[in-house]
Amino acid sequence: MNPVDNIDAQLRALQESYRQQLPAKLAQVDAAWNGPANTPGAEGLQEFHRLVHTLTGSGATFGFSALSDAAYSLESFLKELTANGQAATEEQRAQIAVLLRALHEAAAKPDDAKPAPDEGAQRARRAVPGQRPDRGQRLIYLVEDDAHLAQEVSMQLGYYGYGVRCFTSSSLLQAALAQQMPAAVVMDVVFPEGPRAASSLALHLEKPLPLVFMSSRGDLPARLLAVRAGGTAYFTKPLDIAALIDKLDELTSAESPDPYRVLIVDDSPSLAAFYAFTLQQAAMITHVVTNPQRLLETLSEFNPELILMDMHMPGCSGEELAKVIRQQEAYVSVPIVFLSTETDTGKQLAAMQTGGDDFLTKPIRPEHLISAAAARVRRYRVLRSYMERDSLTGLLNHTKIKEQLEVEVNRARRQGRSLAFVMIDIDRFKLVNDTYGHPTGDRVIKSLSHLLQQRLRRTDIVGRYGGEEFAVILTDTDGPTAAKLLDEIRAAFARVRQQADGGEFSVTFSCGVAEFSRFGSAADLGSAADKALYEAKRGGRNRVREARG
Ligand code: GH3
Ligand code: MG
Ligand code: MG
Repeated sequence: MNPVDNIDAQLRALQESYRQQLPAKLAQVDAAWNGPANTPGAEGLQEFHRLVHTLTGSGATFGFSALSDAAYSLESFLKELTANGQAATEEQRAQIAVLLRALHEAAAKPDDAKPAPDEGAQRARRAVPGQRPDRGQRLIYLVEDDAHLAQEVSMQLGYYGYGVRCFTSSSLLQAALAQQMPAAVVMDVVFPEGPRAASSLALHLEKPLPLVFMSSRGDLPARLLAVRAGGTAYFTKPLDIAALIDKLDELTSAESPDPYRVLIVDDSPSLAAFYAFTLQQAAMITHVVTNPQRLLETLSEFNPELILMDMHMPGCSGEELAKVIRQQEAYVSVPIVFLSTETDTGKQLAAMQTGGDDFLTKPIRPEHLISAAAARVRRYRVLRSYMERDSLTGLLNHTKIKEQLEVEVNRARRQGRSLAFVMIDIDRFKLVNDTYGHPTGDRVIKSLSHLLQQRLRRTDIVGRYGGEEFAVILTDTDGPTAAKLLDEIRAAFARVRQQADGGEFSVTFSCGVAEFSRFGSAADLGSAADKALYEAKRGGRNRVREARG
């Protein structure tokens, strides 16, 4: 079954299960009305109101729009009634009976047309990246007839973990594209068949392919040509390779953030399942809490980046839960979005003052849910990155990497796994600054940051420890393996040709490695790696030393 059929099938299954539950839900509504709600006193009436409210929110979502509408009419009537706090008059009760009948009739009329969800979910899924990259994403196709430049570019890109295939004509490129898709194409804009070939190429591709143009021309007509051919970026020659790598990193890694983590708190299992399913189509990871009493333990285990919170639940309200969450320091900034049929802006505003960030009004269209959730998680990640990341390299900052070392050391101890901690310091970096200037020094720092991120696994943790010092936590890795890996990175870094106005130069680093099993704590591990680094410096620099505890 292809994924699209699969979504359709699953949505149909959810709808079907909702349809099957409907008679029981309606019976509950009837029972509430014929029982407690019908006696004076607002309590029974409120429960009745709540049950009707649930139908307003869920009906249209599962393909029963008429039911949502009918429930909404009844609900609006009940709202007025409960507002004045008195028992219903004979006339009002008759009206409720009429509205209830309409509700039953509507429940027998599912929407004919296929419900909106599937189409929307698919569109949104394409729009929201979340899946890990496949291996092909690191492959670059380079179209360049200057053999010397082609070789130079592929060598430099190679140091940063890219595989490069060079082509001397766009027809050769076309043929290669038919076989395997690269992560991006880099081509010369004034290439004989240049832009036209590129734009026809773009037309035939299933998914957009990042297209980077380079040219000896920087004038507007040349740039326009590139834009019209679908170019995502434009570089003038002589080529700034560091900038090209920056751009390729951005273009090829933008598609692979860690999946977003969304917690759904809703007392209706079917609605919660629907939201979860929808978000999963956009490759998000979801966790559902239908019993608010379990919220606290779930928070710490699941560590959500967004909380979707139903407003009306038995036992406590969404507003109350939001307050509880906000009172815990670790969750002060996690976005909370209320899901509600509440259209009264005053009430919405009041709810937001308790710590919610936004409101989504039920029924919620899947594509809207996905884009709203994705936007909030993205923003949350940006905010968090200001606190945890270094602005020059985007790596974890000193505080955060030390925090992570504690976390990982504890994990390794608990699970009996190995772990290596690595300290890196660029050699004679002061000289680089003094010779080529501070901005060039910054570029060198960035180039090492790139290299580390590309050569290490996603599970490894890289931080900028200070000025020209870096720290790496290698999980599940013993000392010798770490030392060997770092030595390969050391050799690659030494080969990178750093660019400066005054010409090219190369830089090296020294490195100290310490294995967890030899040292008892995060602090000991840190100082052991530091000492090993010092020995590497003393031993002549441009080398890796492992600490022997
Ligand atoms: P060694 O091989 O012994 O490590 O020599 P070194 O010159 O690298 O060591 P030292 O610690 O004396 O100098 C580090 C220099 O790094 C000093 C400082 O100006 C520079 N530096 C620190 N942070 C930054 C930064 O963010 N950007 C730039 N360009 N330079 C920085
Ligand atoms: Mg230093
Ligand atoms: Mg140094």
